Amino acid sequence: MENENSAAHSPSPADDMERLVCIALSDAELAADLSDQLGFFGFSIRRLDAWSELRQYTDASRRMIALLDAESLGADADRAAAMRELKVSLPEQLRVVYLAASDSFEVRLAAVRAGGDAFFAVPLEISRLIDKLDNLFGSSGRDPYHVLVVNDDPDEVSTYAHILQSEGMITSVVSDPRNLFPVLIESKPELILMDMHMDEWDGIELTQLIRQQEIFIGIPIIFVSSEKDIEKRLAAIGYGGDDFVSKPVVPRYLGALLRLRAARTRHMRYFMERDSLTGLLNHSNLREMLTAELKRAERIGSGLCFCMIDIDHFKSVNDSYGHLTGDRVLKSLARLLQDRLRKTDVLGRYGGEEFGVVLFDTSLEYAEQIMNEIRESFARIRQLFQGREFYVTFSCGIASYPAFETVGELVEAADRALYEAKERGRDQVVTV
Ligand code: GH3
Ligand code: MG
Ligand code: MG
Repeated sequence: MENENSAAHSPSPADDMERLVCIALSDAELAADLSDQLGFFGFSIRRLDAWSELRQYTDASRRMIALLDAESLGADADRAAAMRELKVSLPEQLRVVYLAASDSFEVRLAAVRAGGDAFFAVPLEISRLIDKLDNLFGSSGRDPYHVLVVNDDPDEVSTYAHILQSEGMITSVVSDPRNLFPVLIESKPELILMDMHMDEWDGIELTQLIRQQEIFIGIPIIFVSSEKDIEKRLAAIGYGGDDFVSKPVVPRYLGALLRLRAARTRHMRYFMERDSLTGLLNHSNLREMLTAELKRAERIGSGLCFCMIDIDHFKSVNDSYGHLTGDRVLKSLARLLQDRLRKTDVLGRYGGEEFGVVLFDTSLEYAEQIMNEIRESFARIRQLFQGREFYVTFSCGIASYPAFETVGELVEAADRALYEAKERGRDQVVTV
């Protein structure tokens, strides 16, 4: 356990790579602001005087992102063509994010035509930009998409599994639909690949069963079928199927279709489950995850810690520097937690300036050590308001399972510990 925990705090090889962002924007103030803020979140920044300098920084062995103006693209056909060419010559290495002060159809279209991968209108929300940059920097560190194959034919299952695997996705299989719901709940697949006609089961009926349950409303269901009867196909769509793939399947087509659909599901889930300011889980999903992690801990007999974090004197941060600055402080803490904790740890915004963290398979002593390290780092972050510096601290309470056995008990105990930390003078971690 010690090893697993300490490994979490040394960056993986993928994290080790410099994440280079080149900024070439005519608005010098915006460029300066973005380079400050992005630099703080671990990106390496190069400020360029002109987009044409970009070529100097491209490197065949790694990915780089350029932040460029979209506005002049429409008027400057040469520039648009040159950018498109550069993109084509570096399909894997270069990603381009276009920014524009005016958000119009024409400007967005010009950016797409110049090969833009993303578009943001200014003023932009920095956390959204950071998410997009993380996203563009690579799928390497991301979890693979998860597809559930519902099919009772072992040969077909292995064909699909092979196609999905070669596209970097993972597969679960349900050959007896009586197991369908536990699998859907436990593994939260991003997509279901449903066979229409099975020996004992009917794909349309199963689709009805799935769609009757509200929690599964959002999951795409793609039918694989040799069904030519248009009425049957319409019925399948009517009951909540999303698309058809005809048998025999064309592997490249199936692979690409499933990957794109799964990506969209993940994207939509992200917005449904997360707090829009910080990108962390929202209150209800944090509690849901705590419940699930507690069940998992019970099942495999491991420990777990729940940490409750509350920013100190946050009201006076808002009062002194304004709500927007307060928001930026919240985001900086969210991002710090994301950087320091394991990908498998659960992070949520519990409410206002309170955060909750679930550390799986972690002892109380180790959780205390981690949270103290984060606390010290946070206190050293230089927060800025109109060129003035200030520093913010937080207090933290930690409770552990199995000392506390239910979600209610854990949350209450962590809350009590947090209160104790405040009482003792704030900027500290208390365990119970
Ligand atoms: P303590 O050290 O005891 O925790 O003091 P505090 O000032 O942090 O606690 P209090 O509960 O009195 O104030 C919390 C403040 O957090 C009040 C509220 O305006 C602010 N807040 C809550 N949500 C947000 C938000 O989304 N953005 C900003 N900027 N402020 C928020
Ligand atoms: Mg509070
Ligand atoms: Mg507070």
